[in-house]
Amino acid sequence: MKELICIVCPRGCRLTVNENNDYAVTGNSCKRGEVYGKAEVTAPVRVVTSTVRVLQDGRVPSRDRAVRCPVKTSDAIPKGLIFDAVKAIEAASVKPPVRIGDVIIPHICGTQADLVATKNII
Ligand code: SF4
Repeated sequence: MKELICIVCPRGCRLTVNENNDYAVTGNSCKRGEVYGKAEVTAPVRVVTSTVRVLQDGRVPSRDRAVRCPVKTSDAIPKGLIFDAVKAIEAASVKPPVRIGDVIIPHICGTQADLVATKNII
């Protein structure tokens, strides 16, 4: 049995997932909690949010003048790939202008998710 808190909505139901009974979920108040509980125990995924460096005049700015562009993965990626994704994000940079939804890293870490901008940078 695994116990976890459902993070799909603010209600935060306490879930129990029974690995010995086809990952049956109890404690959920709705179907989304059942889906989340099973996935969290069998193949956990997360949306990754971060920022990437913004180049100024085509160059990396000094730290005190650094501007960062907020980004997120377009879909959840396997939890085991999060550190690799963070490394790829840290190595990335963008050149303005950047529009919300622009793909910064396609298929990040070989997944179906793209890393996309979540703010306009002009
Ligand atoms: S089980 Fe349903 S109601 Fe409960 S926290 Fe998850 S999404 Fe919200």
